[in-house]
Amino acid sequence: MRTATVIAPAMTALLALAAAPGVGQDATSDPRLPEASQRLQQYLRIDTTNPPGNESEAVAFFADIFEREGIAYETVEPAPGRGSIWARLEGGPEPGIILLHHIDVVPADPRFWKHDPMSGTYENGYLNGRGALDTKGLGIMHLEAFLALARSGAALERDVIFLATADEEAGGRHGAGWIVQNRPDLLEGAGLVLNEGGSGRVLGNRVVFSVEVTQKVPMWLRLNAVGPAGHGSSPTTRSAVTDLIEALERLRQDPFAPRIVPAVGDFFRDLAELESAAAELADPEGLIAEPDRLAALHRTNPSLHALTRNTCAVTRLQASSKINVVPPAATAELDCRLLPDQEPRAFIRELRKRLDQPSISIEVLLSFKAAISSTDTDLYRAIEAVTARRFPGSTVMPAVTAGFTDSHFFRDLGIVAYGFSPAVIPGSDQGGIHGNNERISVQNVERGWRTMLDLLETIAVAPEQRPTSALGATPTAGGQH
Ligand SMILES: [Zn+2]
Repeated sequence: MRTATVIAPAMTALLALAAAPGVGQDATSDPRLPEASQRLQQYLRIDTTNPPGNESEAVAFFADIFEREGIAYETVEPAPGRGSIWARLEGGPEPGIILLHHIDVVPADPRFWKHDPMSGTYENGYLNGRGALDTKGLGIMHLEAFLALARSGAALERDVIFLATADEEAGGRHGAGWIVQNRPDLLEGAGLVLNEGGSGRVLGNRVVFSVEVTQKVPMWLRLNAVGPAGHGSSPTTRSAVTDLIEALERLRQDPFAPRIVPAVGDFFRDLAELESAAAELADPEGLIAEPDRLAALHRTNPSLHALTRNTCAVTRLQASSKINVVPPAATAELDCRLLPDQEPRAFIRELRKRLDQPSISIEVLLSFKAAISSTDTDLYRAIEAVTARRFPGSTVMPAVTAGFTDSHFFRDLGIVAYGFSPAVIPGSDQGGIHGNNERISVQNVERGWRTMLDLLETIAVAPEQRPTSALGATPTAGGQH
């Protein structure tokens, strides 16, 4: 399924100028940039908007790099254009570590961007493009660290696996989900995953790396209401539509009881300690005991509020196809997100009680298991050691997210998965994730892959074999942050 690397036709004329060594052999990237950033620029220019995804073009991009580096790789394409790729550096008997990122990106509307979202434009120290943060930037940090580790020839105590997958933004059915189901050989011996979901931020004057250890669990439901059909001119006292509206209103008026699971309690207390604006979170139990304070949190910070309870967002409604027909059926789709310790069947029983409407049946469209990765691992300790070394004065804290990533596929199998990125992203750039003007600084890319390499050397190379790169510190996150 490999195809030749595609170079934008307009750029082929520039090929003649590609005399620069190293990565400069690809003329489509800016020669002012260092290797990793040039690669990211090329990656950003491959349109992997999902739908349709078109990840196979990026798979060819990676395959070409592995070929030039002499590293064996494997690709799969479960559906046309929906490729994923992996490469493995063989190591000793310790559980293998997977560097996971997703190739696909969410759509971007160029009308609202300063630069074309598929241009990879380099300006003022930043690379601009859809995927810069979610997650092509992270993917290049993985790749460069992986290649440097391979070139070093160091003997490894565990396998190190680079894995770039399709379809995360649509649930991973053609990507990580497919691989877990159909190619378990890839996961053989693997015990650790580094994935998206965490990042560095500056809180106060300190760099804080959040490491995502668990996430709320999606449960997508369809409510099917049935009732008497009729003519719009003569409404009956009740119908599928009115039953549905009443039930949804009961749900809105009476949200699920708040409670603080241990991982969220730790996360809130850490946030309160690190950020004066979050002092409110120091006593999570006290916070949820006071409805007014909890309601204020909901208004000011919906994503933190979402961590305090099971939630359901009503996202799709459907009833009659004709304005003068009272339909015999109406449906509502709910995007529910459960706390990580919630038993799914008990949740559905409670929902049914709350809706309090026998004419409505509940259909499960998607449901994952909940799983939490422990912080009591060598990998977590390595993240702490490496970030402390390279960002003096920084802190690491375990975090819980309201959204979900491909990590759940691996946690379901008992594999420890952390959301971690060595990039330090200013708050003003966070909105670019799924938003407009997504970008990452070249400083973050270059410092990021070196930090990732340091982490791999710390976790996978025997101490006496570790090169000096695992010892140096890099400047703290000043400068562009
Ligand atoms: Zn993502």
